[in-house]
Amino acid sequence: MKARKSLSQFGWVALGLMLTTSVGAEEKQWKVHDKDRPLPKEVAPGAKPGDPPSDAVVLFDGKDLSKWEIADASGGAPKWKIEGDAMTTAPRSGSIRTKQSFGDCQLHIEWKVDGKTHGNSGVFFMDQYELQIFDSYKSKQWIYADGMAGSLYGQHPPLVNACRPPGQWETFDVIFQRPRFDKDGKLLSPGRVTALQNGVLVLNHADIKGFTVHGKEAAYRPHADKMPLQLQDHGNPVSFRNIWIRPLE
Ligand code: MG
Repeated sequence: MKARKSLSQFGWVALGLMLTTSVGAEEKQWKVHDKDRPLPKEVAPGAKPGDPPSDAVVLFDGKDLSKWEIADASGGAPKWKIEGDAMTTAPRSGSIRTKQSFGDCQLHIEWKVDGKTHGNSGVFFMDQYELQIFDSYKSKQWIYADGMAGSLYGQHPPLVNACRPPGQWETFDVIFQRPRFDKDGKLLSPGRVTALQNGVLVLNHADIKGFTVHGKEAAYRPHADKMPLQLQDHGNPVSFRNIWIRPLE
């Protein structure tokens, strides 16, 4: 017991030294207000809040589903319907995923549940990690905390219930950091999610415990550094609009 404790203490000290060294190296490289320090690249923000900035990959702007495919082995064209500037699940036609793959990213997505069903859907980062969409306005009786809208499904309830009534558009703005695995598939650091729902913080740098499962503890399975983003068809009509993503790697 004693030996284990000192070993783990040594681990923390070693980690601390590594972090101090790497942070220290960066601090030494640039003087305060150093004029030679490279300026960040310029990104033109959207014309109004929620609009995609200049460096975003627009995944859906109301026109077509060309950036998406059915999330199964067929990879066929999605059957979800487009009306106005929104797309709506065609229940039981299958979840959809982006053709492009992503790792660390910033995501903006708008969604709407109809109120007649539970509005179950979700945003799966890297095909694995679900940020839940559900009719959770006023904490309905069928809800459990780690399964309501804004939860990291089965792992972290949202910090608060920031849901709008069904039938109204809601937003998620998410910073997603992918998990890191070594070459043998061993977990080096967990994934993390920070999410705002309708501008309200619901997940604050929350540790991801593993890929999303129902009714049991999550665990990691190693995967590629970039994977598609998936929108869930859980048999309920749910609409989406104005979806854009900024790869952060
Ligand atoms: Mg779901």
